[in-house]
Amino acid sequence: MAAEETSLIGVGTRQIVQIVTPLVDRPFRARQVAHWVIHRNATSFDDMTDLPKELRRALDTQFSLTEPRVVDLAVSQDESRKYLYELGDGSTIEAVAMAEAGHHTLCLSSQTGCAVGCTFCVTGVLGAGRNLSPGEIVGQYRTMLRDLGGEAARVNIVFMGMGEPLLNTRNLMAALEVLYETVSPRRITVSTSGLLPGIRLLGELERRPKLAVSLNAPTQELREQIMPISRQYPLDQLMACLRAFPLERGRRITFEYVLIRGLNDGVPHADQLSRLLRGIPSKINLIPLNEDPTHLTGLRRPDDATIGSFAERLRDCNLTVTVRWSKGSDVGAACGQLKGLHQRRSTASDHCRPAATPSRR
Ligand code: SAH
Ligand code: SF4
Repeated sequence: MAAEETSLIGVGTRQIVQIVTPLVDRPFRARQVAHWVIHRNATSFDDMTDLPKELRRALDTQFSLTEPRVVDLAVSQDESRKYLYELGDGSTIEAVAMAEAGHHTLCLSSQTGCAVGCTFCVTGVLGAGRNLSPGEIVGQYRTMLRDLGGEAARVNIVFMGMGEPLLNTRNLMAALEVLYETVSPRRITVSTSGLLPGIRLLGELERRPKLAVSLNAPTQELREQIMPISRQYPLDQLMACLRAFPLERGRRITFEYVLIRGLNDGVPHADQLSRLLRGIPSKINLIPLNEDPTHLTGLRRPDDATIGSFAERLRDCNLTVTVRWSKGSDVGAACGQLKGLHQRRSTASDHCRPAATPSRR
């Protein structure tokens, strides 16, 4: 292997064809290589059995197919799988595959931490990290798909793991283009804490993923308390930007709302929320707070009756509401619990044993 190899992970068919063309004898060979990488999820050039041996060897000396390395896998009682990855520079991230009826939802990370600093989120409390490269983003998808023995057609992708995807727009957009080759944009959701420049950029894309906005509070005052980013991008400007967002036919914006005990979970908050969303094609995703087992955030989850009343009130206002009963919380894989810390634990087989704590509280 050469010291400086060009990775073919995180680049699309057109670019792979361009990169490998100087090595091939006939043009269709370059397309074959791209097909192996993008559609057949190859992990080595040796896998590419319909290519001449010499070409495989030549590719191997100049290019790599390096992906983030899975260093731990924890399987929840509800069959969610949390992957801990080590990246080339030693940093670590987590991503989660959630089993749903007939498909999996892959929750990918976009950064190694998060500078946005929402008070209820462990990733935010632990602080900023670096941007993931397109290869590191696409690599999470590739490894999970392989592990699940799955077909691309049966996965949804959500950027709801570690990091704020719209603080990493360039790499996110490059990764999206690669993902679109196997997963429809309709099956990909980008979730943001409300970064206006990034939302506008998404709106300008020819092929857009679905948009989810983490609202979490119905007033500027309350939102500022838990999401400091609100000072920079105030709620009224965020709502104006979302009203102007070019939604494709039949699409709606998903509003995520983390319910925190005694803070934003009252019926008056639900009324404020329904007024705020008036006129926007929307779905509301209520996420009862996943408490941080290490109590870094100190915030609590409301009881089930309060959660139910909040949801009912919104439904009475003709809003579409789902409550996301967390998946994978017994293995720290639920929303807001991802830390990406490489902790020394017992043996791998211990993690793959279903945990004793029920994940649905
Ligand atoms: N940074 C992006 C995407 C990652 S966070 C964003 O904020 O949208 C993904 C989702 O997890 C967000 O909707 C966020 O509000 C939610 N979340 C964060 N911490 C949480 C917690 N402790 N419990 C429940 N949901 C949480
Ligand atoms: Fe960052 Fe999203 Fe967590 Fe806020 S909720 S700190 S934006 S990852």
